[in-house]
Amino acid sequence: MSNKYEAVIGLEVHAQLLTKSKIFCGDSTEFGLPPNTNISAVSLGHPGVLPVLNKQVVEYTLKMGLATHSKIRPVSMFARKHYFYPDLPKGYQISQFDEPICYDGWIEIENDPVRGDGSDTKRIGITRIHLEEDAGKSIHDLDIDTLVDLNRAGVPLIEIVSEPDLRNAQDSVAYLTQIRQILLYLGICDGNMEEGSMRCDANISIRPVGQEKFGTRAEVKNMNSFRNVEKAIEYEIARQIEVVESGGKVVQETRGWDAASQTTKSQRGKEAAHDYRYFPEPDLPPIRVSQEWLDRTKSAMPELALERKRRFVKEFGLPGYDASILTQEQALAQFFEDACSHLAEKTKERFKLVSNWIMTEVMRVMGDKKLTIQELNLAPQHVAELVDLFASDTISSKIAKDIFPDVLAGTAPKRVVEEKGLAQVSDTSLIVEIVERILSSNPDEVERYRGGKTNLMGFFVGQALKETKGKANPKVVTQILQERLEA
Ligand code: ADP
Ligand code: MG
Repeated sequence: MSNKYEAVIGLEVHAQLLTKSKIFCGDSTEFGLPPNTNISAVSLGHPGVLPVLNKQVVEYTLKMGLATHSKIRPVSMFARKHYFYPDLPKGYQISQFDEPICYDGWIEIENDPVRGDGSDTKRIGITRIHLEEDAGKSIHDLDIDTLVDLNRAGVPLIEIVSEPDLRNAQDSVAYLTQIRQILLYLGICDGNMEEGSMRCDANISIRPVGQEKFGTRAEVKNMNSFRNVEKAIEYEIARQIEVVESGGKVVQETRGWDAASQTTKSQRGKEAAHDYRYFPEPDLPPIRVSQEWLDRTKSAMPELALERKRRFVKEFGLPGYDASILTQEQALAQFFEDACSHLAEKTKERFKLVSNWIMTEVMRVMGDKKLTIQELNLAPQHVAELVDLFASDTISSKIAKDIFPDVLAGTAPKRVVEEKGLAQVSDTSLIVEIVERILSSNPDEVERYRGGKTNLMGFFVGQALKETKGKANPKVVTQILQERLEA
C-alpha cells in the first residue's frame, strides 16, 4: 500500500447457529437434504402462521455476546426488514434493528497470530451482534428457470458487526480467524466458509494518513474463504487509492468479489440501495434475558482459544508457534493436554516433545487419512508412552516413528517394543565389539578422521546403527567411537 493512505475496514460476519431446528419453527436445519424437504408452513411464510422463538438460539447468542465482552440487553426486539426476492417468501426477513441483543463489545487479535505467544494483541470493537433468520437459496439454472430451495429459510443466524477498527488485510484475516475460533470453541457454529455457514462482508475505505474523518466506503461481498477475504481487501484498497490518485472519487456502493478475475466489481450503487422499511415485528414478544439466565450461561463458558494458547505457553513452556497450532482446534488442544498428563516425567522438555510429536507425526497421519483427532482413535496415553520411551533412550526416535503404525492400530508402544525386541542396546561390551569391527573394516576413513575430517563421525555412527538395525544407543555408540578414534 502506498504510505500516503491508510485503509479503514469494518467486517460484518454472519454465522449460522448449530441448532437442530430453525429459529421460529420446528423444521430441521440439517444440511444437504433434497430441496424443499424441511419446509413447514412457517418456513414457507404462509399467511396466518405465527413464529415461535427457539430458546437455544438466544442461549447461543448470549454465549457469543459474553465471549466478545459485549453488553447484553435485558429486553430486545425483533424487526421486519423488507425486500423482495424469490427466496424470501414472506417478503420480509425477521431480524433485529435498533435494539440488538448484544452491543458494544470487543475481541483481541494478535499482531502475529502464527508465532505470537498471545501477549502482543490489540482490541477490535464489536458494534453489535444481532439475531436473524436466513433466507432460502435461489438456483439460477439457465436451461430451466430460477429454482428456489427453502430448506435454509429460517435457519438461525447471528450477525456480528465490527467497529471500523481494522487497518489492513492481514489484521482483517486475524480478526476473522479469532471470530471463527470463538464460534468453534463455543460450539455454536461449524465455521465452514465454503459451505456458507460463516459468511463475511467487508466495508473498506481509505483516507490520507493523518486525516481523522473516514473516507467513503465500498462494501464487498461474495468471499467464501479467508484467502479470498484477504485478496479482496488488498485489491479494493489498491483500487480506491488508484481512483483517488487519478483525481476521481470513491463512490459508496456494494461490490462483489469475482474470484475468476481476482477483482471486485460494482453490483449496486447507493441510489439502488434498499430502503428496508424496518418496523417492530408484531408477531413476536420481546426477547427477555434475566440476570439469572445470563449468570447461568456465564458459568458454563469454556476457556477460549486465545486464553488456552496463553496457558499453553505459560504452563507447558511451549513456543507461541506450537501453542497456535495446538489450540486451533479444541479437540487437538485437549489431546495435547491429555497426553502430557500421562507422561512419566512432567518436564517442559517432555511437553515440547509431545508437542513436536503431535505437530509432525500425528498431524501428518490426520492429513493423509483426512481424519480428525477423534476419528484417528489414538490414545493420548500412547503418545505419552512413546515420548517417554525415546526421551529415556529406551528406543531411538527413529524406532518410535517406525512403530507408530502399530500404535495407531491400538497396541501400546511398550508392548510393541517388547514383542518386536526393539529396546535400544546400551550394553557397552556388545557395542565395543561392533565399533571395533567397523573401525577395522574401514581403515581409510579412520585415517582421514584422525587427519582432521571429524565429520566422519556421522558415518561411523550410521554404520553401527545399521548393524544393530537402529537399536544401538547412538549416545553410547558415539562415546565409544570417540574414545577409540582419539586414543
Ligand atoms: P450498513 O448496515 O449499511 O452495512 P453499518 O453502519 O451497519 O452499515 O456498517 C457496516 C460496517 O461498515 C461496520 O462494520 C462498520 O464498522 C463499517 N464502516 C462504517 N463506516 C466505514 C468506513 N467509512 N470505512 C470502512 N468501514 C466502515
Ligand atoms: Mg452492511
